[in-house]
Formats: sequence, C-alpha cells, structure tokens
Amino acid sequence: MQVLVYDAHSYDREFLDAAGGDHAFSYTAAALDTQTAALAQGIPAICCFVNDDGSEPILRQLAAGGTRLLTLRCTGFNNVDLAAAERLGIAVMRVSAYSPYAVAEFAVGLLQTLNRKIHRAFNRTRENNFRLAGLLGHDIHGKTVGVIGTGKIGAVFARIMQGFGCTVLAYDVAQNPACVATGVRYTTLEELLSAADIVSLHVPLMPATHHLINANTLALMKPGAMLINTSRGGLIDTEALLGALRAGRLGAVGLDVYEEEEGLFFRDLSDKIMADEVFARLMTFPNVLVTGHQAFFTHEAMTTIAETTIRNISDFASGRSNENVLKPK
Ligand code: NAD
Repeated sequence: MQVLVYDAHSYDREFLDAAGGDHAFSYTAAALDTQTAALAQGIPAICCFVNDDGSEPILRQLAAGGTRLLTLRCTGFNNVDLAAAERLGIAVMRVSAYSPYAVAEFAVGLLQTLNRKIHRAFNRTRENNFRLAGLLGHDIHGKTVGVIGTGKIGAVFARIMQGFGCTVLAYDVAQNPACVATGVRYTTLEELLSAADIVSLHVPLMPATHHLINANTLALMKPGAMLINTSRGGLIDTEALLGALRAGRLGAVGLDVYEEEEGLFFRDLSDKIMADEVFARLMTFPNVLVTGHQAFFTHEAMTTIAETTIRNISDFASGRSNENVLKPK
C-alpha cells in the first residue's frame, strides 16, 4: 500500500525501513495541516504523529483526495476527530501499546534530575566548578508519590517508585488490579494532591482531563511538591502553573510535553526568537526542566512503533481488524 508519512524525521525512516514490510512509504518533514493535506492527494494511507492536525476540515481534504487510512505512530489520539473520520470513511489506527517502560523510566529520570539537580551539576563540572552549594536534594525513599492514571505507563511508574521505597497513592476512573496487588492505594484527586510530595500525570488528554491541573488543583498541592508531566501538555493549565511557580509554591516541575508544543517541539529553533511568551517565561524558572516530547524515544519503543504501524497498514489493506482500530465513543 502507498503510505505518506507526515512529520517524518530521519529516525522514523530508519525504524520503518528496518521493520520491513512491502508497503511503499514516502516521507515528508511537514506536519499535517490545511496547507499540507494536499500532499496526500491520491495516496490511500497516511501515517501521523502527536502534533499532526486530524481535525474535521483536514480530514475532509484527505477524504476528498482518496485517503482511507490514517495510522498514528503514537498512543494518544487527542489530535484526531474520530467521529468526523468515521463519517468521512477514514479508518483511524494507532499504536495502542509499546514500551510503557520508555515513558515511565523517563518520568523517573526527570524526577531525579530535578531532585538532585543533575542538569545543573553537568554544566558546573564542565566548567571545573565542583562546588555543591545549590545542589541539595532529598531522599526519594519514604516519600509519598501520587500517580494520576494507572494504565500501562502509570502502573510501571508506580512499581518503580515502590522500588525506591515510596508510598504510592493513585487516582484513576478505574482501579488497576495489578497496582492494588502491589499496595498502591487509590484515593480521590483532592487527597492525592494534598498528600503527595511528587505528582506524576499518566492520563490521556480528553475533555474530562483537559486542565486537570489548574489554579484550584495546584492550590491543593503540598508546598514544595514536584509535578511531572510526560503525558500530554493540555492536562496542565500553563498560565496557572506559571502563577504557582511565581508564588514559589512548587518545588520543581518536569515537563516532557507542553500545551502549545505544536510548532515548537521536534524542530531545531535554536537560531530563532522564541515567539511563545508563555514557554519563554516557563524556561526562566531554575526549578523547571522541559524536554521536547522524548519520553517514548528508545530503541525498543521505536522498533515496536514501526512494526505495529506496518501491521496496522497490512491489516487494513487485507480487511482485517485489529486492537489498534480507533472508534468514536
Ligand atoms: P492507558 O490507556 O494504558 O492508561 C490511561 C489511564 O488513564 C487508564 O487507567 C484510564 O482509566 C485513566 N483515565 C482515563 N480517563 C481518566 C480520567 N478522566 N480521570 C482519571 N483517570 C482516567 O494509557 P498509557 O499507555 O498509560 O498512556 C498514558 C498517556 O501517556 C497517553 O494517553 C499519552 O498521552 C501519554 N504518552 C506520552 C508519551 C511521551 O512520549 N511523552 C508516550 C506515550 C504515551
């Protein structure tokens, strides 16, 4: 099947090529939007990523051009209007599971980097500055960690934190029996926020979770608590987060995702002026660490993403359904 891969980087090509398959891939560095939808004219399948725009007007353009499959090389699907896709006869698939370890382990990496100020130590020692003042951290052992969303990634994160010797509290609309079995205690969002020293977000972005962390919920957090978000930027009201940071209420914030990351992340903008003033403000806080949506980015995860994407396309081409087909609720 002919497939156009949007928002393609060298590593996407490398892993899709290595995964084999007999599909004819073509690649564009452009993200899917109103300007670039025309590139898929006459191409039956497209492959998209987290910040490609799958809203109704763009899906209409794609359908008119003959596209019948949009396969996402990610888990989250908040950027695609599933109801519109169904109406327009475009099947939507995703990679429903790949290494949850990649993301959970990265969340722990952010947590410990911020806690022990490893990023600052790296800069100091490169300049032969071996002073320790300003690098003081905390033992993680014995702390209370709040996990919001205990699906595949949240459950792995909870297990790792239990390994550190933490008490783990969780909030989810559905309890995960594997977490209950290891001693995770489910509670309300309010209790979790007011008891946790560290809060990590692992819920999908949807209307019910949009701005789950806002001025009201931030006010419930323990003074000095750490907030980690490796899920989706829209879970946090960034303006409210800036308010809490300015007031000195949060100990540290680690973000692998940002509300307005589309147009920023996955690009080299090092010689450009930062146009996003909210983001620029965020970067001024010494206790904030931002990474550019890289939590998924391991060999193991990229291999599974590529292999699953090829299987999705093959199953679609031969009329087989699989567990990665997305339907509107
Ligand atoms: P999952 O579906 O296995 O788990 C999500 C959990 O959230 C489930 O337990 C579900 O019950 C819970 N949930 C759903 N709605 C909720 C609500 N309103 N309130 C409370 N809990 C709710 O998903 P996963 O594989 O663990 O992935 C979680 C998220 O991580 C994805 O949706 C994606 O946005 C993000 N992600 C980020 C990266 C990255 O590179 N930064 C990579 C992969 C996934």
